[in-house]
Amino acid sequence: MQTQTTTTAWNQIVQEGVQAYVEALTDADSQRISEEYGTHNYHPLPVNLVRADGVLVFDGEGNEYIDCIGSYSAVAHGHLSEFIVQTVKRQLEKVTLVSRAVYSSELAVFLKAICDYSGMDMACPMNTGAEAIETCLKLARKWGYTKKGVPKDQAEIIVAEGNFHGRTTTIIGFSSEPQYKELFGPYGPGFVSVPFDDVTALEAAITRNTVAIMMEPIQAEGGIIVPEPGYLARVREICTRNNVLLIWDEVQTGFCRTGKRFAWQHENAEPDLMAVGKPLGGGLFPVSAALGKRHVMEVFVPGDHGSTFGGNPLGAVIAVAALAEMEVDGLAAKSQERGQQMMDGFRALELPQVLEVRGKGLLVGLEVQNVDSKKLTQAFLDARVLTKETRNHTFRFAPPLTISEAEVDEVVARVGRAIRSVV
Ligand SMILES: *Cc1c(COP(=O)(O)O)cnc(C)c1O
Repeated sequence: MQTQTTTTAWNQIVQEGVQAYVEALTDADSQRISEEYGTHNYHPLPVNLVRADGVLVFDGEGNEYIDCIGSYSAVAHGHLSEFIVQTVKRQLEKVTLVSRAVYSSELAVFLKAICDYSGMDMACPMNTGAEAIETCLKLARKWGYTKKGVPKDQAEIIVAEGNFHGRTTTIIGFSSEPQYKELFGPYGPGFVSVPFDDVTALEAAITRNTVAIMMEPIQAEGGIIVPEPGYLARVREICTRNNVLLIWDEVQTGFCRTGKRFAWQHENAEPDLMAVGKPLGGGLFPVSAALGKRHVMEVFVPGDHGSTFGGNPLGAVIAVAALAEMEVDGLAAKSQERGQQMMDGFRALELPQVLEVRGKGLLVGLEVQNVDSKKLTQAFLDARVLTKETRNHTFRFAPPLTISEAEVDEVVARVGRAIRSVV
């Protein structure tokens, strides 16, 4: 494979298709080219995936892995879900992109479907999770100025330590992870950080300029941190009592990942706004949205916000198909059952290296101690299980929600073997 982009190569790509070039690459070629031409803002596992099917993924040498990364929870329906792929094929014969300069029937159906599914009143379609968060932040601030009477440019939003809400310059400004923010300042003002799962600190941080509290119901990137029972409901109650909006970031926990449609439903802590994304794209395409109550969403007027690709017809039908398949396949119940099976299985291994197993549904964290994380990462790969460390020596297991009972048993067995193999 030549890496030069000569006129000849471009002509060949046009004639033969890009896939001919892709197929000619070895795993080593792919790694080498990626390191040379791609910025080094990720440190990938030494695995080059070329094919996927359900919960399985394959490298160029034909090795088969059980995908417990699930593209950071974005692949909920299994790779290449037949129903979603068929939906895409049909849509590709009609229209894919029209912009928000016009109306679109596909977008209309998406807006109705996502509101029905979530119980929210209105939706603002975006593409990535970070954009959905930014949208929520803008809505909350404008609500604060126009409805709560907060003096202009004084709005405060309370967030939790250990949060992960995305990678924009605004969002990293209130991250507590040094690597995410250092040397990317100056950071935007207007955010106050409090310890997660601490209602006293939360209440103490509220001022008359507080417009919103924004948190993940379970901190996923932060190491699968599940708050004490009752916390979500208390946060809801504190928001109501103080006339502060509650924003749940359900980008990772949403759409059945934790055993319910949304993680806030475990405590009926209904938000005023929520950000959704990742699995909404059916594992094929970025689709996200800010969802919320009408009294908040209605503060947007034409020109306030937008996105060229947000709400495009292709993404819209993919998202509706993704919602439908989750319902028809009962993915919430499956996530609950398989997640419990996985956690019980990990605990039953009774390994001294396992400090804690925690999570909800199929968002599972396995915290290890006294073991070299690098060696363990390699041992998991050798056992053909894809998982990656989040923060705090915790490996995340977030496979597609379609994973079978037998496959969960297999993951548990392989994880046991891998941990035992590291000395
Ligand atoms: C992944 C994630 C985001 C950001 O989503 P992107 O699509 O990567 O921008 C935001 N919040 C949470 C909780 C996430 O897990």
